[in-house]
Parts: sequence; C-alpha cells; structure tokens
Amino acid sequence: MFPLKTFVSERRAANLCQQIRWRDGVYCPRCRGESVIRYGSYRVFQRYRCKNCDRTFNDQTGTVFEHSAVELRKWFLAVSTYIRFNTSLRQLDVEIDVSYKTVYRRVQRPQEALDAPRPQLEGPVEIDELYVKAGLKGRERDRPSRSRGLSTCGRGTYEQDKPPVFILADRGTGNRYVLQAKAADESTIRLLLADRTEESLTVYTDGFRAYEPLDEDDAFDREFVVHGDGEYANGDVHVNTCESHGSLARSWLSPHRGVSKDKLTPYLRTFQPRRQVFRKPGEDALKTILETAL
Ligand SMILES: [Zn+2]
Repeated sequence: MFPLKTFVSERRAANLCQQIRWRDGVYCPRCRGESVIRYGSYRVFQRYRCKNCDRTFNDQTGTVFEHSAVELRKWFLAVSTYIRFNTSLRQLDVEIDVSYKTVYRRVQRPQEALDAPRPQLEGPVEIDELYVKAGLKGRERDRPSRSRGLSTCGRGTYEQDKPPVFILADRGTGNRYVLQAKAADESTIRLLLADRTEESLTVYTDGFRAYEPLDEDDAFDREFVVHGDGEYANGDVHVNTCESHGSLARSWLSPHRGVSKDKLTPYLRTFQPRRQVFRKPGEDALKTILETAL
C-alpha cells in the first residue's frame, strides 16, 4: 500500500530517512569515522557527534534533501509518485507546490550521478534502437521553435534532436538495458557490446545496416530478421523482447515528452529502478527508491 502516513508526518519521514540512510551503521559524513554518539536533535532529526573530528551532523546531513525549505515528507511523496505513477515534474510542481526547478534538482539530477549501467553480457543478446523526439525543455531556447511543417523520414540523429536510444536484452542473464547514444553507428554498437563474458557473442538484430559489420567479426555471431520483408521472428532470431521493453520505455518517457536530449539520460536512468519497484508494495518500493538516493 502507498505509505500515506509517511507523507503526512514529518517525524515518520525522518525515521524512514534514518533507517535507510544508516542501514549499514551510522558514520560521520565528513571523515567517515564510525565512532559517533547521539547528540540531541535537530528539528525532527536525530543529531550525532563524531568522536574523531568532533563535528556534529544529523540524519539529513550530506543527502540530496539537505538544506531544503521543503519538508522531507513532501520529497518522499514526490519521489514516490514520480517513480510509481509516472508523474511529470510539472505535475509535481502543481501538486506539491514546489517549483519545477527545485524538483528537478533534488529528485531528478541525483539520477545523473548514478553510474551508467555497464552491461555484462552473456548472450544471446537482442539489440534494437528507438528514436526519441527530444525537445528543448530544461534547455535555454537558443533558436526559434522547431517548424512542424516539414517532417523528415528515416532514422533520427542526435543533431536533429532525435537521439537514438539502444535497447539491449540479454537472454542469458535476463537483464535489459536502455542506453542513450549520440549516434546509431557501428562504433557505438561495438562499444555497447564490449563487456561480455562469452568469447563469441550471439547477437540478434533487425536488418539495420549499422549492424552489418558485426557479420565480418569473429567476436560476434550475428543473426537478423528483416522487418521490411514482413519477417519478425525466425525461431529464436527476433528482437521482440527489445521491442516490448522499448514500448515500456516510451510510455515511461511520455509524461516527460519534450525533454531535451542532453537531459534525457537521467530520465532513462530512472526507468531502471522503476522496473525494479513496479510490483512491490508502496512502502517497500519507497524504501528501495530511497536506497538509491540516500
Ligand atoms: Zn568525523
């Protein structure tokens, strides 16, 4: 169930923050010393003193929620609805009365700091691309609005504000990855497939030409289906897992449509934890989400 009580009580939110933050024990955020004693409180937060550097800190010190005029319980509500209900940041702005920029800075930007996923591929691996129509949100308007009159067909490019996003589905490990790229070309594809455990990696693709050089390479065993010919699966050879995962990614991005290409990565990164918490009950989901942020 959605943890409503946490969202109406600042003390409950503080307790949850304390529980998640110090799940491996309390330590000093400044010197990392573990010799700390309880030292009164700061508002609703427990305060501590470090015996090593003699400084004090509390449950919120050094977290993304520190020094915020917005209450912690509101932040937890924002994070919960954002990831579970796919709420746009604009909507959060309206619902919890915190400016879009503040929400972006606290809720979304920390996602940028997370390490890019490093796929360890076992294979067979399906690989496919989709193209996101990026806008100018979050970016200075450095040119007039795009003209909608002339549309161009074909695959998009980063320069045209249609950055390619690659979907990798590793059937060996069951892991799926959604990765933004600057270009849908051979060198990008090689980079994406670089980390693997098998000497020769079986790769399933569609008929896109950028995958063709893999045919010449002993490191890959490429098989493909040509969608243009109406062929979508040939036994095991298909990219259907990528396509269904891609459509989930598209619907995840949909409330954030118009996000500029250089702001797209954190939104795609958030898609990963969203998958992990999707079927968890509300309270567990919030804890899991906070573990990535605290
Ligand atoms: Zn210390």
